[in-house]
Amino acid sequence: MKIGIIGGGITGLVAAHALAPDHDITLFETMPYPGGCLSSYHINDYWIERFYHHCFSSDRALFSLFRELGLMERLEWRKGTTGYYARGTIYPLNTPLEILRYPELSLIDKGYLGWLTLTAKKTDLVALDRVPADQYILENLGMNVYTSFFEPLLKSKFGDRRKEVSAAWLLSRVAIRSNRSMEGERLGYIRGGFHSFIDALVSSVHSRGGRICLQTPVTSVTREQGGWTMNNERFDTVISTIPPQELEHYGGPVLPRIPYQGAACLTLAMNREVTKGIYWLNMKDSAPYGAVVTHTNFMPVDQYGEHLVYLASYFSGPIPQRLDERMLADFCSRFSVGRDEISWHRMAVDPFAGPVYTTGYRSLIPRYEQKGLYMAGMFSDTNYPERSMEGSVRAGFAVAECIRNAGGP
Ligand SMILES: Cc1cc2nc3c(=O)[nH]c(=O)nc-3n(C[C@H](O)[C@H](O)[C@H](O)COP(=O)(O)OP(=O)(O)OC[C@H]3O[C@@H](n4cnc5c(N)ncnc54)[C@H](O)[C@@H]3O)c2cc1C
Repeated sequence: MKIGIIGGGITGLVAAHALAPDHDITLFETMPYPGGCLSSYHINDYWIERFYHHCFSSDRALFSLFRELGLMERLEWRKGTTGYYARGTIYPLNTPLEILRYPELSLIDKGYLGWLTLTAKKTDLVALDRVPADQYILENLGMNVYTSFFEPLLKSKFGDRRKEVSAAWLLSRVAIRSNRSMEGERLGYIRGGFHSFIDALVSSVHSRGGRICLQTPVTSVTREQGGWTMNNERFDTVISTIPPQELEHYGGPVLPRIPYQGAACLTLAMNREVTKGIYWLNMKDSAPYGAVVTHTNFMPVDQYGEHLVYLASYFSGPIPQRLDERMLADFCSRFSVGRDEISWHRMAVDPFAGPVYTTGYRSLIPRYEQKGLYMAGMFSDTNYPERSMEGSVRAGFAVAECIRNAGGP
């Protein structure tokens, strides 16, 4: 079969990799580089992701693909330390002792948090799908646990849309992330960057005879005589990995809108670190970014020769004006960093960086096969309750499997 794939992120590349041995594959990608959310900058002699990335010990499909692509021996496990920035102070929050010392929560609040962590796995999530997360926390754990613990987390993940997020999403996340040791969570990273993962997928597609067209946005998709015409080329079938509402603009089926948010990530390099060795610092205080993610407090700085920091923010609608300048100015004044200490900075913006898991979200998840074409990506069931590399790898393989099971055109 001649198959056209829209989107060269993980989902599209994995689907192309899986189908290329038996089919004639052409993948279209708008950007001049592959990888989508997992694309990287090439700075000096290293690669660094446009958006911070790490993987989790539960990412089985991802690791199986790493094994197949010969990347497994480059996977390293490191402590992913976290903390909160509250009232101008950095509080590490990794060990039980650090949590006990965190002054923004009372002992009773901490007891409530412990209770939530222990019971999250047993809670009926379907019943909570239509309950807002903030309402659930306020009713069950009180105002202070919400403002001092969950609100900064929700803000760093969903920005202004945090009040729409469902309690089912929040409790799924609590249940997943409670699998941590007394020292905190261990997270994975490919030495040299996830760029090598994208690179290996691209090489695999090429070696299996597939075609990857960069800087080639798909602008029209039309159903014709049992097949599809896309950008004036005929295909037996099409896989779209872009948001369903985007595909609809180009002629795709009309489906319920998936609520999406954009991400803006300012990456900067400097010669020292300023977050007390913490990898992931959630901002409780108001700032133009929800988290400060110091990559070189996770991976050793000597692999880069400079400290690398992400200032991360999510937004809905148009990107706030001069966000990069505001982020940089706030970071410099808050952490007492001189502008001349920052050797470079770059802003990455993705208007469709991930779904917002609003109340009732589960009913919006589309099937893989839709009115004669196929859809998979961040909106697929494999990416609930959180979109991830793992979820997109599984979505890519799942859609390839659907096409195999459907047989010929
Ligand atoms: C800020 C951020 C941090 C993240 N951190 C982590 C993490 O730590 N761990 C983890 O596991 N996951 C993380 N993720 C999630 C992970 O990166 C994504 O789930 C995954 O990369 C999504 O891949 P995808 O192919 O489904 O979608 P995308 O990466 O969005 O790929 C879609 C592709 O389609 C292209 N496209 C759009 N329109 C068209 C068109 N008309 N024609 C052709 N091409 C088009 C886009 O340019 C894009 O390349 C993070 C994501 C973000 C944004």
